[in-house]
Amino acid sequence: MTRRSFFQVSAGGAITLPEFQPKSMLHVAGHPVARAKFPVIDVHTHLFGIGRKATPDSPEGRAELAQVARDMDSCNLQTLVNLTGGNSETIPAIRKSMEPYGGKFLTAAEPVWKRASEPGYAQWQADELAKCKAEGAVALKVLKTLGLGLRESGKLVKIDDARFDPMWEAAGAHNLPIEIHTGDPGAFFTPNDRFNERYEELKRHPEWSFYGRDYPKRGELHEARNRVAARHPKTKFIYLHVGNDAEDLAEVSGWLDRYPNVNVEIAARLGELGRQPRTARKFFERYQDRIMFGTDATFDAGKEYPQQDLTQAMYRCYFRFLETEDEYFDYAPSAVPPQGRWKIYGIALPELILKKVYHNNAARAFGLKPI
Ligand SMILES: [Zn+2]
Repeated sequence: MTRRSFFQVSAGGAITLPEFQPKSMLHVAGHPVARAKFPVIDVHTHLFGIGRKATPDSPEGRAELAQVARDMDSCNLQTLVNLTGGNSETIPAIRKSMEPYGGKFLTAAEPVWKRASEPGYAQWQADELAKCKAEGAVALKVLKTLGLGLRESGKLVKIDDARFDPMWEAAGAHNLPIEIHTGDPGAFFTPNDRFNERYEELKRHPEWSFYGRDYPKRGELHEARNRVAARHPKTKFIYLHVGNDAEDLAEVSGWLDRYPNVNVEIAARLGELGRQPRTARKFFERYQDRIMFGTDATFDAGKEYPQQDLTQAMYRCYFRFLETEDEYFDYAPSAVPPQGRWKIYGIALPELILKKVYHNNAARAFGLKPI
């Protein structure tokens, strides 16, 4: 199959879908925002390269942190929480590399899935969290691996499997919020055909599709995660990517109403929030104490430009969405929108809510100073 035939629009010499990059003829006022109005705590970043190409104690890793620290000020980023922290063996080196920056960087721990089938895992993992906390971890990151990747005798392990109960409990006892990514966007659970709103993205990343095979329905994953939050009311949960249901804020509102220990974070969901600006604004007003700022930013060591330019431009899309009433602008700095072919609208949050979303809600979760 040629690349061209993937896109089904090449007959008669027509341009292909990837070649189609229309320029908007709309003339409306634009108000780009270079710096966030208040100091930002980004609760969802990945330092040292997402696949740990740069370890924190390597020259590349040290150079990356130094470069990111310099660039943070230009966007008014105060603190980045690294979610790719690993376990009590990897965290000490990470903490050491972050120490010279005086609180600019924090790190989360991650469960050790490869031990999940071993006898005694439940207690081991709970004890391991105490060690991570002692080494300076501020949160526990749980990837979509749980629910969509981790298998035992070939079968997917359920998110609410009882063996993890001591881990969720220990996280609460040690004041480590759970930053949990469950499922994925709705379009990743439907066939990737001409009706799929994220068709091009799934063509680029077919491994992101969870349609078919033995994958559970997305709603089942959400419900299993919600049962975990219900069973551990003293543990704070931060549902990443607006709980992976930013397409349906009424549904997410129901979760927030039912589970007072649940919060959400907005990384990589501007494309969803910004195409329903009136609904989104009401959502931010109603849950202003429970929404945190996050981006899923990655920083590739050694690739100073254009990677750093793009990262800053990415942050500025978030600021523009949250702070302005701008209309019909890009949710990401790329020629073709990465998730779906639409644009977004700003929700112009008042200062009081901006302060909470940019800073104070995360500050409360991680024991930092409010503004
Ligand atoms: Zn992430």
